[in-house]
Amino acid sequence: MKILINNKLDNVGTCVKEKGIRKGEKIDYGNIISKSYIPFGHKILLNSTKKDDPIIRYGYVIGYCLKDLEKGSLISQYNNYIKKSDDLKSFDKQFRISKSNYNLIDLSDNYFMGYLNDDGSVGTKNILAINTTVQCSSGVVNKAVDILRNKYLKKYPNVDDVVALNHIYGCGVAINGQNSEIPKKTIKNMAYNPNFGGERLIVSLGCEKLLAKDLFSDINRDDLIILQEENGFEEMVLKIINKAEMKLKRLNLRKRSKQPLSKLNVGVQCGGSDAFSGITANPLIGYVVDSLANIGAKVCFSEVTEVRDGAEILLERMESEKVRQQFIKDLKWYDDYLSTGKVDRSENPAPGNKAGGLINVVDKAMGSINKSGFSPIIDSVSYGERLKKNGLSFLATPASDFVCGTQQIAGGVTLQLFATGRGTPYNLREYPIIKISSNSILKKKWFDIIDYDAGVLLEGETSIEEEGKKLLELIIEIASGKMKTCADKLELYNDLAVFNPAPIT
Ligand code: CA
Repeated sequence: MKILINNKLDNVGTCVKEKGIRKGEKIDYGNIISKSYIPFGHKILLNSTKKDDPIIRYGYVIGYCLKDLEKGSLISQYNNYIKKSDDLKSFDKQFRISKSNYNLIDLSDNYFMGYLNDDGSVGTKNILAINTTVQCSSGVVNKAVDILRNKYLKKYPNVDDVVALNHIYGCGVAINGQNSEIPKKTIKNMAYNPNFGGERLIVSLGCEKLLAKDLFSDINRDDLIILQEENGFEEMVLKIINKAEMKLKRLNLRKRSKQPLSKLNVGVQCGGSDAFSGITANPLIGYVVDSLANIGAKVCFSEVTEVRDGAEILLERMESEKVRQQFIKDLKWYDDYLSTGKVDRSENPAPGNKAGGLINVVDKAMGSINKSGFSPIIDSVSYGERLKKNGLSFLATPASDFVCGTQQIAGGVTLQLFATGRGTPYNLREYPIIKISSNSILKKKWFDIIDYDAGVLLEGETSIEEEGKKLLELIIEIASGKMKTCADKLELYNDLAVFNPAPIT
């Protein structure tokens, strides 16, 4: 097999030969001779087309030909164009139950070992999170966190980590400016993530605009440290450590207990995608998402610019008009946000995405939405807000890995499934991130960074159902703390990135 065709309506196939297809080589399909070298992951045209004819992949139009093209031609970023996004107002969709082609994994007897919180939520890690109201306090907080991690954590073996929920908001901003509710909600809601055990410790500076009581109206003065009230650096750090120890003592009393998988809050994301992401890793994730949503786990997908071109398909899967309207509102908001910067969604694909065979943002989006499986979408949750309903939700976030990852912390996600084709060492401390490669070349090259190889699906000797079960076993091991992700073992961590579309002064 030299090419892979996703849907019988498609007029392009994807090269699955590692070395690529040589110019003049005959393809095992429809008597096609390649007109040029077709690299691994790139597309070959199956029928001759005229200028402005559609290019079809996954059964959907992903672009239009810039000129007449002969069958066997390479379809790349240079010989196609996309049209302006459909006007979301024009959609008139009815709820339609879409069905997975696969039998879902029977999860009735499965459980994981998690940390049960007073509010009924369950964490996959037991972390002390220290909130900051402004970046000015981050330097001091980071010093205290380093000392806590290196010198104190060993006294509290049931606590996994100490993190600072740092951000660049809080002052030097128009605190009530347009869109300021997004960073404010995000900073507040991050503190409620189930992995933080309901403890709260806030470090503020003292003269900033964002006040602790504006974030947490029920703030206890004992949980608040104001650096400008302290005498010198040492006293500041000691105060943070003393208060942190009180919290660490409480967190250390917590033990993992048997919890149904419906208590797992799973977010999905992709980054560094290639043309295989939509064929292997993303559908595999979608299958696990369907299986988890089916038993009532809170599961979410995000990344507005990557679902924008699949909006029509997603709208049909939304259960109520209310959910559809919220989704449309959040997508239109993003269209406007991009147009303020005089750009549109076509800014999304990175050079690496294109080198990996993705020709444009529509191609990327149609592969990306496979992460959401086929389940009904029961809620659309706006920027910075928390997941509320059991089942599959859309959580509005940018597609940027760190921003999406941070917004998903605020959403209440306790474990993330992350698909990558080109490879990225992206990782956060706040929840485990399981990295799934879309091709086996990446897994071989990054054997110690990638957790799971979905590239085996290209070889045809296994199935989504088989791999889904294996991936789920890995999810349970990691959510139960019995195993660490590769990036956690290597302690590779990125900074948080709170989404701030509001004015900075
Ligand atoms: Ca992303």
